[in-house]
Amino acid sequence: MEVRWDIVVVGAGSAGIAAVEGAHQQEPAARILLLSEEPQAPYDRTCLSKHIASGFQPDRFKLREDQWFQHNNVTFRGGEAVAALDPRKRGLRLAGGDTVKYQSLVLATGAVPVYPRIVRPHQEGSFFVLRTLSDAQRLIKGLSSARTVLIDGMGVLALEIANQLVQMKKKPTLVGATAQLMPRQLNTRAGEILEEVLVRNKVKLMFQDEILSFESNRKGGLDVALLRSSGVYDAVVVCIGVQPCTELAEAAGLHVERGVVVDEHLRSSDPSIYAAGEVAQHPDGSISHVWHAAEYQGRIAGSNAAGAQQVYDRRPFRLTTNVFDTHVLSMNLPRDPQGYRVEEVEADTVYQGFYFAEDRLHGVVVLNDESRSTLYSEAVIDQWSIDRVAEQLML
Ligand SMILES: Cc1cc2nc3c(=O)[nH]c(=O)nc-3n(C[C@H](O)[C@H](O)[C@H](O)COP(=O)(O)OP(=O)(O)OC[C@H]3O[C@@H](n4cnc5c(N)ncnc54)[C@H](O)[C@@H]3O)c2cc1C
Repeated sequence: MEVRWDIVVVGAGSAGIAAVEGAHQQEPAARILLLSEEPQAPYDRTCLSKHIASGFQPDRFKLREDQWFQHNNVTFRGGEAVAALDPRKRGLRLAGGDTVKYQSLVLATGAVPVYPRIVRPHQEGSFFVLRTLSDAQRLIKGLSSARTVLIDGMGVLALEIANQLVQMKKKPTLVGATAQLMPRQLNTRAGEILEEVLVRNKVKLMFQDEILSFESNRKGGLDVALLRSSGVYDAVVVCIGVQPCTELAEAAGLHVERGVVVDEHLRSSDPSIYAAGEVAQHPDGSISHVWHAAEYQGRIAGSNAAGAQQVYDRRPFRLTTNVFDTHVLSMNLPRDPQGYRVEEVEADTVYQGFYFAEDRLHGVVVLNDESRSTLYSEAVIDQWSIDRVAEQLML
């Protein structure tokens, strides 16, 4: 059966849902098809790592209520992976055999976990990743009989999982090639403070180390060989990063580098195809890996697919998390602090790291000042002067 739609959105994550809403806001009302390889109603992926201990109840984390689909004039087909894209015919072939035609297409296919060199996805039986609801269900089941868990990674996902494991009375160990926790989002001092918090919570940390191999032993555990040591663990969780899901676009001959290359309107090398979220690579080469950026891009891509001409103005990177009762805010931290004026303040449990470029606020790293998160964000977006920061933000 073949049906022609005004707009087809592939992927029902943060970017895909926002693309539907962006398209729906344009006139005339478009007929929209939303396709998702995952069978469930769209859910909030970011909650997966924060609710392992409570057994993640999908209904609590639905992205939109049931009436949203009708309200946005969208037909949702879950459990429908798109197998092939033919830009010349403006057509899609679904894994189930149906074909679908579109006027405009939004690719919001997100990203998949990166696997360490030593393992392949088909060996997944012996370790865990966390990206989808089914990954979470498998992990929760696998953890029921586990006590010692090795987490491959030092990033925010690794920390959130470790936090959950401690709540479940498990013994997590984090291993990573880096010299500090969350190296992309934290500076040295904030990393040290968080490290102290984790150690206090009995999380073992193995910096500048690497898993070389692991294999199941007769007792049902895993013998793990690391660069500097070896150990036996009940489970291994891999969270060393993600890579954009570009297969469809690549096979269809779109311009793909690390992600699907888009212009400032989020249009790909084919003028009727847009890309948003973690699959999209922007003109400066960047790919966003945070929820709010995927949502913002999705809305623009959807609007443009429906005829608008909106421009994606890149917003400062912003990440917040709450791990081991420590609130973390990281916004626009420069990769190389050289050339920035850095002001650090510590008062009681609060840490503030301010990065100024030409006396204007460029980025912040803040621990334990959650109630003023919005103010910090405003200050970075509006590039407050040093004097204003000193007066209104510094402790
Ligand atoms: C456990 C976890 C916790 C996170 N926590 C945070 C956080 O606290 N804060 C934050 O900012 N970010 C967080 N992130 C990152 C954030 O979730 C992502 O940046 C965001 O979800 C990206 O949205 P997206 O729509 O681009 O992709 P996704 O949410 O990955 O959605 C893409 C969808 O497309 C589907 N798809 C792929 N290929 C096909 C196909 N061929 N056919 C049909 N469907 C397809 C996928 O199955 C998926 O459902 C977290 C991520 C994870 C995994």
